[in-house]
This record gives sequence, structure tokens and C-alpha cells, in this order.
Amino acid sequence: MELRIQNLSKRYPNGTQALQDVSLSIKPGLFGLLGPNGAGKSTLMRTLATLQEADSGSAFLGDIDMLKDKDAVRRVLGYLPQDFGLYPKVTAEELLTHLATLKGISGWLERKRVVDALLHQTNLHHARRKQLGGFSGGMRQRFGIAQALLGNPRLLIVDEPTAGLDPEERVRFHNLLSEIGQDVIVLLSTHIVSDVRDLCPEMAVLNGGRVMLTGAPEDILVRLEGRIWKKFVDKAELSKLQAELPVISHRLLMGRTLVHVYSESAPDASFSPAVADLEDAYFATIKGHLVREATPAHLTAAS
Ligand code: ADP
Repeated sequence: MELRIQNLSKRYPNGTQALQDVSLSIKPGLFGLLGPNGAGKSTLMRTLATLQEADSGSAFLGDIDMLKDKDAVRRVLGYLPQDFGLYPKVTAEELLTHLATLKGISGWLERKRVVDALLHQTNLHHARRKQLGGFSGGMRQRFGIAQALLGNPRLLIVDEPTAGLDPEERVRFHNLLSEIGQDVIVLLSTHIVSDVRDLCPEMAVLNGGRVMLTGAPEDILVRLEGRIWKKFVDKAELSKLQAELPVISHRLLMGRTLVHVYSESAPDASFSPAVADLEDAYFATIKGHLVREATPAHLTAAS
């Protein structure tokens, strides 16, 4: 089953163009949708999750017309929204059992089997009798995945799931996502580059409601080889450099400012080549140096 989104556009009544001609083809596995705040990720996720309307375009999940046949989508969809509310006084087991009933999982024994399996899968079985109000951020997000997996979805949408998680919880959450069945389409929206780097064989960068780049991270990185240059600068030098050269990122490293510049050749002898990483690709895209489809590595090598 493939998710095919074509020319999806959405403008909010206040005039914000949140999506503009978004087209993506997404196969089973983890797909990373990366973009800064305001890029349109949640709008796209909510539209695919049947919670809001698009103005134009289409989205098909296999042969389900997602914009028209919302009931059919809901039968095969698992969704973890960005603002996932929980009933604080209810235990994990109680809420999951209740949600299983709502999902139509009938029969006490079958519900118990499904709920138990999901609590084990999300590493929450030990906490099943704890009230959700006492859960840590990571536990809440894992519970969010447990509820989203009820009913064996074919499409799992997770919107900014790792925001606010500490590094250990993030690793745990990544492991959980990476263990979800091979034949499920998992659409992961995030503004955190390492989420995509760690998890996703395919990705897209969304910015200003448009798809700026799609491809496999390794193919995207091939396009950057030899084009990222680095240099340590004084803080005072930074704005001058930014005015003169395509600076794609700068960050503090051991108290000094490390600058990455996008350039076909060394801007001058003071720069040294940097090994491009996905963060470079992301910022180069957001700043307009990389566009649309990445050429697969094997084609680049053959030509
Ligand atoms: P992201 O999830 O990437 O942060 P969103 O889809 O939430 O992006 O937002 C995309 C743009 O649409 C932003 O400019 C945001 O302010 C705007 N937006 C989102 N929801 C609404 C709304 N209900 N009404 C008006 N503008 C909205």
C-alpha cells in the first residue's frame, strides 16, 4: 500500500497559505517529514488524519480516497497528535482497554490480549496500573503510540513526537518506532534533524507549505559532497561573514563559533572541507541551496 499525495493545498481563513501544491509518494516504512515550526507539517498530518479539509489536491492510501472516504481512512489509521491529552486519573490499562472497545475490538479476552501486547511493546506493562497523570513525558508518548497502534493501522501518523523528551527517552522512543511492522507506513513529522537521521530511509523537507526536497538521506548527502566548508570565527565576525557568503549554519562548539558555508569550492584558504551531515542538508534546503528530488546515489555514480 502506498500513500500518494498530489498537489495538496490549504489556505486558512486568515490568509495563511499552510500547504501549497504538496506532492509526495510514500511507501511502507518510516518516512520523515522535516521542517521548521510553521512549515505546515501539522496541517498536512491533520488533513491526512481526516481532521481538517484541504482546499484542493488529492491523497490516496492504496485505493482509499482519503479526502472523501474518511470512515475508510479511520479504520486503517493510527494517529498520535502533537497535543495529546490524557485523562490524568485513569490508569494506562483502563484507558487503553476503553479505547480498544471504541476501536471495535470486541470480546473481553481479545481486548485483554491486545492491550497486554501493546503495553509490552511500548515497555509500559510494568506501569499499567499507574495513573496517566503520573507518567513522564516519554511514557506519555509511548502510551500515545500504544493507543495509535490499536486495531493494527496501515498508516501511522506521529506529529512531533519527540519534542520535549530527554535524550534517553528519545532513544527509547526511536527504538519503539523502528520496531513497528515493515508493512506499515509511518509518517513522522519533526523539526529535529536527528529524528530523521536515526530513523528514516526516506524523507522530505517542508518549508513555507512547500515540499523543498525529497529523497533518501544518503542520496541527499551525496549532493552535498565537497560543498560544505567550515571555519571557526569570532562572534563579532559572524554577521560580516553572513553578509558575504552563503552561511547555512553556525553553532557553538566548545565555546567557539563554528560556521558551515555552502559553496562549490573553498570560499578562501581559511576554510576547510566539512563532511556533510543531514543537518547541513536541512539548512541548505531551508536556505534554498538544495531543491526537490535528490538524485539516487547509483545514478550519480553511473553518470
Ligand atoms: P508546523 O506543524 O510545521 O509547525 P502548522 O501546520 O501548524 O506548521 O502551521 C502552518 C502555518 O499555518 C503556520 O503559519 C501557522 O501559524 C498557520 N496555522 C496553523 N493552524 C492555523 C489555523 N487554525 N488558523 C490560521 N493559521 C493557522
